[in-house]
Amino acid sequence: MYDFVIIGGGIVGMSTAMQLADRYPGARMLVLEKESGPAQHQTGHNSGVIHAGVYYTPGSLKAKFCLQGNIATKRFCDEHGIRYDECGKLLVATNELEMERMRALWERTAANGLERHWLSAGELREREPNIVGLGGIFVPSSGIVSYAEITAQMAKEFQKKGGTIVFGSEVTALTERADSIVVQTAGDTYTTRYLVSCSGLMADRVVRMLGVEPGFTICPFRGEYYLLPPQHNQIVNHLIYPIPDPSMPFLGVHLTRMIDGTVTVGPNAVLAMKREGYRKSDVSLTDLAGMLGHKGIRKVLKDNLRPGLTEMKNSLFKGGYLKTVQKYCPSLRKEDLKLYPAGVRAQAVSNEGKLIDDFLFVNTARSVNVCNAPSPAATSAIPIGAYIVSKVEEQVGDSLAKVVVQVPQAKVG
Ligand SMILES: Cc1cc2nc3c(=O)[nH]c(=O)nc-3n(C[C@H](O)[C@H](O)[C@H](O)COP(=O)(O)OP(=O)(O)OC[C@H]3O[C@@H](n4cnc5c(N)ncnc54)[C@H](O)[C@@H]3O)c2cc1C
Repeated sequence: MYDFVIIGGGIVGMSTAMQLADRYPGARMLVLEKESGPAQHQTGHNSGVIHAGVYYTPGSLKAKFCLQGNIATKRFCDEHGIRYDECGKLLVATNELEMERMRALWERTAANGLERHWLSAGELREREPNIVGLGGIFVPSSGIVSYAEITAQMAKEFQKKGGTIVFGSEVTALTERADSIVVQTAGDTYTTRYLVSCSGLMADRVVRMLGVEPGFTICPFRGEYYLLPPQHNQIVNHLIYPIPDPSMPFLGVHLTRMIDGTVTVGPNAVLAMKREGYRKSDVSLTDLAGMLGHKGIRKVLKDNLRPGLTEMKNSLFKGGYLKTVQKYCPSLRKEDLKLYPAGVRAQAVSNEGKLIDDFLFVNTARSVNVCNAPSPAATSAIPIGAYIVSKVEEQVGDSLAKVVVQVPQAKVG
């Protein structure tokens, strides 16, 4: 019998496992991950930005955890010798409408408690000679890192504290009983007192395994990137972001300095035909049928038909994609855009047809399930893990404390 089983070896699962091991020393803990190593999905296919918390609704979990996570991520890197660069971020407005939206963001950044600086067109040019705009906001605390490296370190910390990780182990069924949960994988059956699911693109399916109708489904959005050739590695000094359309959930194609010294352009947001489909040609009939059969997703597609089609067109034709970035970086050319691996976002869509904005958790008597953890969940992984530990504490009460204390006593004796 395990005390805790955690499903998912992405950054949220590993952060939670590491912090549960801290909170309950001596507890029997197991992480089950279906891939052959950690960080194979969203955590290993993202922009690597340590977000500051610019965009999120004041008071939301995203706003709170991103702000805390920005500090906690850098501290974790300092403690474990992981390289990061606090290079700062520039939001650039290129027309009057964007200037207006930027003023709203300026207010929001104040409400979210961020240090930020308003830049005139001249100040923007001084900081970034290759970028044009009417003005910008500079946010110094944004940075870059490899989230795959952080996750691998978290896995090590978890193992050092006695936790076990089994890779290549897909959870296929769950049965919740009064005193435990039975966890079925292809080859094994485990019993655990408590379960935490951090299963990203499969979050809704895992909740359904527990017999709960979650009220949402996961809609996968591919984020396609290009890599700039090495001669452009110094094209920008900061992370360069457009001013997002507030009606859209994603941030828009940005220029990102990566921690390995390269610069990427992206990501866009195209409906994916497969949950873990990284190539344009990847299609899963099961996933597709699930999406088209969900009335909430059909409503989202209908309500966002025009931007959705534009994203698809820009995905198929480099020229359209290029235009989105030339708005603020006019010197880039088509031949500068080299292919780069895509990522797939897990975005929860409610049965009523809303893209769920905030982080979302669904609990049962013996489980906590992370159900919506899109960006900035990599930045926020440490506070999300701490939050899950607090939810587990509410469930566990005194019951586990007795078990946990008994184990070291038995060993000593
Ligand atoms: C294109 C893109 C760009 C992004 N950019 C940023 C950014 O710059 N900064 C930022 O903070 N965030 C960013 N994000 C968001 C961030 O990457 C994710 O929010 C974060 O990685 C989510 O972590 P996770 O552990 O929840 O999910 P994942 O990393 O997807 O991990 C879930 C894991 O669960 C496993 N799993 C699923 N089902 C099962 C099962 N049944 N049995 C066993 N294992 C299972 C999967 O194999 C997977 O390894 C970006 C995301 C994308 C896609």
